Amino acid sequence: MVFKMTMHPALDGDCIQLSWGETDTLHHLFVDLGRGKTWKSVHPILADLGQIELFVMSHVDADHIAGAVPMVRQDAPPFTPKRLWYNARPQLEEAHHRLQRVEPFGPRQGEKLARGIAKFQWPQNGEFASGIVSTDSLEAGAPIALPGRLTLRLLSPGDRELADLLPVWDRDLERAGIRAFDPDEDENPLDDIFEPLSGAPDVDTLAATPYKRDDAEANGASIAFVAEFEGKRVLLAADAHSEVLEAALRPLADAEGGTYRLDLLKVCHHGSKANTSPEFFRMIDCTRFAFSTNGTRRHKHPDAETIARLLKADPNREKVIYFNYDQPSARKWKSRLLSSLWSYHAVFPAPDENGRLSIDIG
Ligand SMILES: [Zn+2]
Repeated sequence: MVFKMTMHPALDGDCIQLSWGETDTLHHLFVDLGRGKTWKSVHPILADLGQIELFVMSHVDADHIAGAVPMVRQDAPPFTPKRLWYNARPQLEEAHHRLQRVEPFGPRQGEKLARGIAKFQWPQNGEFASGIVSTDSLEAGAPIALPGRLTLRLLSPGDRELADLLPVWDRDLERAGIRAFDPDEDENPLDDIFEPLSGAPDVDTLAATPYKRDDAEANGASIAFVAEFEGKRVLLAADAHSEVLEAALRPLADAEGGTYRLDLLKVCHHGSKANTSPEFFRMIDCTRFAFSTNGTRRHKHPDAETIARLLKADPNREKVIYFNYDQPSARKWKSRLLSSLWSYHAVFPAPDENGRLSIDIG
């Protein structure tokens, strides 16, 4: 049996593949397509895979969705997912109306991606009668089954997060990263903005830095879920808000004696310190953490505070921290001294595979 997660080269974003089942009849799901450049490297993989049970566009930030823009420019769908989860403007509007308890109405103007998806006739949000991928949709009350005995438990977003994005979507398309013709100016070469390596991180000081929450609406609207196969669980957190995840996890943690067991966490928002609170780490029972980011752009993810929090939350058990790029913000955790002090092992991709890392979950 196989249950594995692969982080594809998404530069500073996410392109996550989950595969499960028997070796010769694997099922797959994808979350996001990273930057424009990511499309070039993953589209042959997507075209070859065949059984794509679910394709998720977690939210509309460019580091998750820009790779879908070249995809929808094609006349014919380059692959055919059996299911698609994506909350575009019509779903935000529906969520807004559902909160107001009025009948949905209004023209269904999708954005470019929504039109592209309509052109491909991909079945969008079919698991939800309302058409909204939301924890407030009835179907999200229980795990949703996919073929091959995988179940998905939706943790984010709720209607509130979707409705909050609506005015931002209209006002701020540029920030939402779905401008009609994204110029792919994101394709900066990797190395020229890297900082020189700084000193070893001081875990105690970093972990004591006060947590300040992310208030970006697009991130709050992220589709995040726990996928479970043969009793093993992975949480794919996209860029969701920590508070939204905590609210969804709390009853699950209570039912398991206070902490929710996970076999792997795709850490939220590329390891931003604003998206994984100390409280979040206290709610989960997890020793394996994966970070998807090349550390470029102003954020230089992952934030050292996030890694310090996870080490501090569980200092004695042996932990594994996976990075899909060998880059300075990750590399500073390669220290043997830190590894032995805080009981962890840092895993990096092979040099010729920088950006791509597969992790066995089972
Ligand atoms: Zn992101």
